[in-house]
Amino acid sequence: MKNDTEPIMLDPNECWRAVQERDSNTEGRFVYAVKSTGIYCRPTCPSRRPRRVNTLFFSTPKAAEREGFRPCRRCQPHETAAITLRIKQVCRYLEEHQDSSTDLGTLAALVHLSPSHLQRTFKQVMGISPREYADALRLQQFKTHLREGQPVTDAMTEAGYNSASRLYERTPSHMGMTPTSYRKGGKDMKIGYTTGDCSLGRLGLAATTKGICFLELGKSDAELLTHLENEFPAAELYQNDPDLQPWITAALRLLEGETTAADLPLDVQATAFQRRVWTLLQQIPYGSTRTYGEIARELGQPRAARAVGRACATNPISLLVPCHRVVREDGQLGGYRWGIERKEALLKRERER
Ligand SMILES: [Zn+2]
Repeated sequence: MKNDTEPIMLDPNECWRAVQERDSNTEGRFVYAVKSTGIYCRPTCPSRRPRRVNTLFFSTPKAAEREGFRPCRRCQPHETAAITLRIKQVCRYLEEHQDSSTDLGTLAALVHLSPSHLQRTFKQVMGISPREYADALRLQQFKTHLREGQPVTDAMTEAGYNSASRLYERTPSHMGMTPTSYRKGGKDMKIGYTTGDCSLGRLGLAATTKGICFLELGKSDAELLTHLENEFPAAELYQNDPDLQPWITAALRLLEGETTAADLPLDVQATAFQRRVWTLLQQIPYGSTRTYGEIARELGQPRAARAVGRACATNPISLLVPCHRVVREDGQLGGYRWGIERKEALLKRERER
């Protein structure tokens, strides 16, 4: 029996084989729909295999939806998820080809998208362009090599930087300090620092000339200072920096719920993964929450919920990178670097506003 909803390009036997084997190589090429349930799925969906007689194949999620099928809640086969998968493929590719420069056209061909479409969707999903992602990977590798004690020039070559000028030209916005000072734990780096009083204890804010690198809640100024010194053991600290007064005032207003947004510059040091997680956290609207799993799925790495938890736990910039808005799947609050009571208080305040 001929089925109009099956486009010519799809070979139903091949699709059926892929569904039975949960073949991940066919991911993104088609979805299957089950007539008895009205649900459509990705070929790799972990759910029980349908009966062949009940199964239809569609080349796109949209085509399945036009026929009235709803996306499966387990495998999330709808368009955004399909795009996320492609973005993930691009990320993997960039991770495996760190030493060579990869142009947008090559990446786009890899995932069957036009270069401009890839550029746009990559940025939507990841918060940064493919080029910036590749740079972040290199930077991460470079920092690892430096920490292992390699000379700056060797570490640079191994991380795929072609010339010193290229590295230095990209470094400031990413690290807020030169590579040499980073290796020495922030030596020669000047960090201004100040504290303020809030309803949840003390708030400590530190910044380089590029932006805020540290925003923490604590019981006392001494505790905050210890944390700051652990983050930047060799930096030169300027306490009670009067220049930071406007920033800490803005942060305090955000904390107390007097405003829902504080547009302050950040200067974070992060691995590529942390950067991706933190960028997503900044997109969670005021007053709402996401689960660790949801963030992982948005990253295109559905099994990375624990890694998302770790990225939240190592976030040095509370409030502005709002890791308090990430909670557990079961509705429990999960952890918080600055104490669960503070997380609860922040979320309550945001809900009430
Ligand atoms: Zn499914």
